[in-house]
Amino acid sequence: MNQAADDTTAARVQSLRAQLQAASYAYYVLDAPDLPDEVYDRLYRELQDLEAAHPELITPDSPTQRVGEKPAAQFTSVRHNIPLYSLENAFDLAEFRAWEDRWRRQAPEVGKVEYVAELKIDGNALALTYENGVLVRGVTRGDGVSGEDITPNVRTIRSIPLRLAIDNPPPVAEVRGEAFLPLDVFEQINAERAGRGEALFANPRNAAAGTLRQLDSRIVAARRLDFFAYTVYSSEFDLAQMPSAPDQITSQWQALEFLKTLGFRVNPNRQLCQSETDVQTYFNEWDTKRTRLQYLTDGVVVKLNDFALQQRLGFTQKFPRWAVALKYPAEEVPTVLETVSFQVGRTGAVTPVAELRPVPLAGTTVARATLHNADRLAELDIHQGDTIIVRKAGEIIPEVVRVLRELRPENAIKVTMPTHCPQCRSALVRPDDGAVTRCINSSCPAIVQGAIIHWARRDALDIEGLGEKWVKQLVEQGLVQSVADLYGLTVENLLPLDRMGQKSAQNLVNAIAASTARPWASVLYALGIRHVGTVNAKTLAQRFPTVEALAAASPDEIESVHTIGPEIAQAVAQWFAVPANQTLIDRLRQAGLQLAASPADQTQAAAGLLVGKTFVLTGTLPTLTRPEASAIIEAAGGKVTSSVSKATDYLVAGEKAGSKLAKAEGLGIAILSEADLLALVAVV
Ligand code: NAD
Repeated sequence: MNQAADDTTAARVQSLRAQLQAASYAYYVLDAPDLPDEVYDRLYRELQDLEAAHPELITPDSPTQRVGEKPAAQFTSVRHNIPLYSLENAFDLAEFRAWEDRWRRQAPEVGKVEYVAELKIDGNALALTYENGVLVRGVTRGDGVSGEDITPNVRTIRSIPLRLAIDNPPPVAEVRGEAFLPLDVFEQINAERAGRGEALFANPRNAAAGTLRQLDSRIVAARRLDFFAYTVYSSEFDLAQMPSAPDQITSQWQALEFLKTLGFRVNPNRQLCQSETDVQTYFNEWDTKRTRLQYLTDGVVVKLNDFALQQRLGFTQKFPRWAVALKYPAEEVPTVLETVSFQVGRTGAVTPVAELRPVPLAGTTVARATLHNADRLAELDIHQGDTIIVRKAGEIIPEVVRVLRELRPENAIKVTMPTHCPQCRSALVRPDDGAVTRCINSSCPAIVQGAIIHWARRDALDIEGLGEKWVKQLVEQGLVQSVADLYGLTVENLLPLDRMGQKSAQNLVNAIAASTARPWASVLYALGIRHVGTVNAKTLAQRFPTVEALAAASPDEIESVHTIGPEIAQAVAQWFAVPANQTLIDRLRQAGLQLAASPADQTQAAAGLLVGKTFVLTGTLPTLTRPEASAIIEAAGGKVTSSVSKATDYLVAGEKAGSKLAKAEGLGIAILSEADLLALVAVV
């Protein structure tokens, strides 16, 4: 820490500051952010960290030195009686604990405490002043020191009382809370804006900010802003001085209740927590539940409940020390691109992969992200050392969404697709009509390795212990050039591999041998034919119970199988037409793999789940003819009869179904559509 900053650091600090200032202006003044909040937060944190390590680089205009932006000019600027602070962020549990340690250092004798956990409403803070119980002023947060007087607009918000609902109100009271736009209103506003060809609001928070700053309060009234109150001040924290406040208001929890008495809406999803574990449970619980709310939340605000303790801890320049915002994991974050590697998959497809400075994202640490293909690479115009935004939505592999060009280091080198395979050095090809660049050397070690790893997968031949580390060595040492070579391996062959012991070698040989018992459908899937996943492999293996039957089938015959489309049929036929693949099949046959359905499989397929079930067909089905539908049912062991009776289990009804449908309904028989029927047999 604290070493003199080098030129690169100083340049980074400067460009971060410029980027954050521009973003902040777009966000607060124009209500049109050009960075996702999470990205802003992370860049801000980076700047904060660099400034902490090199305090000589701090300038008074740094975004870390103030809360928001200067208020826009249209409204009168008003100085807040008590500054409107921001909240310190904690991005994970460790940071939450660090906050806890910090305040405890200041109050070392304090033992167990209570916390109030509230949802962090993603809206705009408002400070409302009531004189003798009457609303006289509503002010935005602005830069925390002064905000804009938007009283006429505030008056339009129906959940803000114009008069406090108590007798004997204090001469002056201030209520703070969050004004927000419900999601349905947000969508409606954007739809209207789209209709008028206007720019859309990026998110409800900016839409709310834009609405609050409308000069015409009739427009504001039409937009149905809402408000949750979370703080009340009479004279600073001394709520007891408020004549109507019960003397015992000494905590945030009681204050929230009291705000209800005053006539405010208070968010009902709050919780009084007795421990860090309670806070954590609340936080986790709301991570899922919040998606069902009619407004956006971006985290949980945790406050120390006891006002006396709050008062003792006080504020830093920007934050209360007694509260922290525990943020939900981001789906988009910035990080620095260290280099781009080019991965060759089992189909030969070459994928550019960004190797990143590791960054926490949506609950995991991300160090690599896909750049998809050559087109995407060119479109992003990515350079070594670029600051990029990575996204991880749900279970999807992280991807690079954007480059922050403003943060590009000087003289950075542009990244381009290689012309030759990084593994085998043969020339790469890219068909004119395709996005994928490929290595077409079928003995390229990367392709062979990929094929073997796929072969060993649990849902393929399930060869336990044959992981990437062994496959790599087997291919590199020339022991295996094709999946068929696996079946010739002996313990003696394996022993020279790095870190391979007698026992593991024996286990691996046994596991390979055991895979010869895996069914024909698994072998078919394991071959790695394009478009043939586990489900298609099963369907094909049922319809073509031997490899000879499948290899001899024309694309038309293959396509006649239900759920098999022309692309799949083509891919299968093409695969079997390649002489090298025919040789492979011969070798697999010699090795004893199952290339035909066993009698047991066939009975099972024929028996299926529909055994003992009686079907009746009626009406016109959308795609199947009657004989086809009957064949599907019978293949799965079901029986088709012509008339509905008590013995009927299912009626498959299409369009113009007549009396049979009515009769079946009368008897309470299950009615299926064609799609239902197909779903039923797919289970088989
Ligand atoms: P913040 O929004 O992270 O947290 C503080 C605010 O939370 C409070 O002022 C209050 O308005 C609100 N809040 C909601 N529920 C609350 C509750 N129950 N109790 C107390 N407070 C509650 O921080 P901020 O200082 O308001 O704004 C900075 C944030 O603005 C950044 O984190 C960033 O995400 C965003 N920002 C984004 C850009 C961009 O370009 N995207 C630019 C500037 C700022």
